[in-house]
Amino acid sequence: MRILLIEDDPNLNNQIKTSLEDVGYSVDTAVDGEEGHFLGDTEPYDAVVLDLGLPKIDGITVLEKWRKDKKNFPVLILTARDQWSDKVSGFDAGADDYVAKPFQMEELLARIRALIRRSAGHASSDIECGPLKIDTKSNKVFLNGTKLKLTSHEYKIIEYFLHHQDKVITRTELVEHIYDQDFDRDSNTIEVFIGRLRKKMGLNLIKTERGYGYRLSIERE
Ligand code: CA
Repeated sequence: MRILLIEDDPNLNNQIKTSLEDVGYSVDTAVDGEEGHFLGDTEPYDAVVLDLGLPKIDGITVLEKWRKDKKNFPVLILTARDQWSDKVSGFDAGADDYVAKPFQMEELLARIRALIRRSAGHASSDIECGPLKIDTKSNKVFLNGTKLKLTSHEYKIIEYFLHHQDKVITRTELVEHIYDQDFDRDSNTIEVFIGRLRKKMGLNLIKTERGYGYRLSIERE
C-alpha cells in the first residue's frame, strides 16, 4: 500500500513517514500544497494524509481540486485541535477522516488502516481469502492458522492482493502500489516475488491471468 503524506512541519513529516514505513507502507512525501497536489494528481495512492495549513496551496484547496478531478483515494486530514470549522470544511471538501494535532501515532495508523480497508470494501481488520488471512493490525499473514514468514516486499504484495481479491491486478498496478516514487522500480522482480509467495504458500492462490496480470482467488481453475 502506498501513501502520500503532505505535511510542512519537517519533524512531524519525518515522524509520520517513519511510522508509516515501519508498519509496511511505501510513502511519498511533500512539504507544500503545490507539490502534494501534483503527486496526488499523477500517482495512484491507497490513502493520503493531508495537513491543512500548507505553503503555496492550502490543504482544503488541494483536496477540492482532487475531488473535482475525480480523484477518489481516501484522504485523512490533519487539523488543529480546537478548529471545529476546519473539520467541517475538510469533510465538505471531500475528506474521509481527520486527526486533530497533537495526536497519538497509534490512532493515526489505526485510522489509515480503516480507511484503506473500507475503500477496498472490507469492514473487518482481518481479511480472508480461503485458508489465507491477513491481520492488518499486526501486519501478519496466516495460512491455515500458521504465520507465514514473509519479506517486506512479499508482505506488501500479499497485502495488496488480499485487499483486492478476485480482481485482476496488472504488474504495473502492483509496482505502483508497493514501491514509493524514489524506489528503483523493476516490474520483472514482481514475477520473482510472486514465485516466492506461491512457494511459501504451497498452493496456487495467486493465479496468472495471461496477458493481464494476476488474481488472488480461491476458486478452482
Ligand atoms: Ca502546517
